Amino acid sequence: MTNNKFKILLIEDELNIHSFMQTILEAEGYQVLKATTGAQGKLIFRSHLPDLILLDLGLPDMDGTELIREIRSYSVTPILVLSARIQETDKVEALDLGANDYITKPFGTAELLARVRAALRSQRSFSGGSPQGGWKSQDLEIRYDQRRVFVHGQEVHLTQTEYNIVSLLALHSGKVMTYSAIITAIWGSSDNGSIKKLQVNMANIRKKLHSRPGENNIIYNELGVGYRMCEGSDWQLPEPGSQN
Ligand code: CA
Repeated sequence: MTNNKFKILLIEDELNIHSFMQTILEAEGYQVLKATTGAQGKLIFRSHLPDLILLDLGLPDMDGTELIREIRSYSVTPILVLSARIQETDKVEALDLGANDYITKPFGTAELLARVRAALRSQRSFSGGSPQGGWKSQDLEIRYDQRRVFVHGQEVHLTQTEYNIVSLLALHSGKVMTYSAIITAIWGSSDNGSIKKLQVNMANIRKKLHSRPGENNIIYNELGVGYRMCEGSDWQLPEPGSQN
């Protein structure tokens, strides 16, 4: 698939990272717009309306989180944070302010492209309404229309809550979801026991899906931040009466 219509704004002050990322993204068919300061990033954002923003948190003229806050006040354009910071609190703060995902430096080509695809896909699915059809990765298949889950073709029996968590993660596959975002989506509100409740459900889900870190990793635990479903793709049921 070529994505030559997608414009990506890269806001980053390190020039070697600029050229590395520009090469990778352009080879994949994306158009890259470049800014080296927050102020320049804002100007280009307003004049070119990119489809995705790749944002470094440590900019010379402002903190990247400030820019997330500002852009989120008037735009839902996906923001993927490039962070050298390893503290979970920084990642959670960026996500809570409205960033869609983050990637920790140093990162490789495959990881960068996977995050970019997931962020662009999440933007499209917002306008898609309720899920029809299903979702499929190498190991896992979900039929949203029947609320059924299969691992390597074998049906897996999940509780309602477990199914809701798995389908929520699949709808955002490839992208991290914070603990609080999952808890709010599944239970509506959070209390002191929420994280524990989520962890217990997640342990049962991983057991049932035979998802184990390192080998058959379907759901990744991003320690201190949240969970990330492996990359996969949506499929749609044919329209009633269509020939295909
Ligand atoms: Ca920087």
